Amino acid sequence: MSDTIFSKIIRREIPADIVYESDEVLAFRDLNPQAPVHVLFIPKRELATLNDAGQTDALLLGQLLLAAADYARREGFAEQGYRTVVNCNEDGGQTVFYLHVHLLAGRRMHWPPG
Ligand code: 5GP
Repeated sequence: MSDTIFSKIIRREIPADIVYESDEVLAFRDLNPQAPVHVLFIPKRELATLNDAGQTDALLLGQLLLAAADYARREGFAEQGYRTVVNCNEDGGQTVFYLHVHLLAGRRMHWPPG
């Protein structure tokens, strides 16, 4: 059984502010938000990093992004804009080794990111 924070959130062993759920995807607010809106989208089927995804995960990866875009539309900031981010491993700044898509919105984003 996986022991990452996010697998515990999926198993409801630790609390999270869940904003969206489907058979494949769970989304909840980031504990340490970096923007007025900061939501994490994770697959219910665990993958540690983007490097662990293969062709059989193509649909799942699409579902994560589409869930984020749907959330942005539903919450009314899709037209204003938002950013989605997947950090991978050390240089990417990944700290939780359970694949997740960050959705950030509610302020102007900078480029390049730090
Ligand atoms: P990463 O750096 O791996 O791309 O992103 C991990 C994110 O998970 C961080 O933005 C961090 O604030 C968030 N996070 C870490 N622990 C928890 C937690 O227990 N609950 C929630 N909701 N978010 C968390």
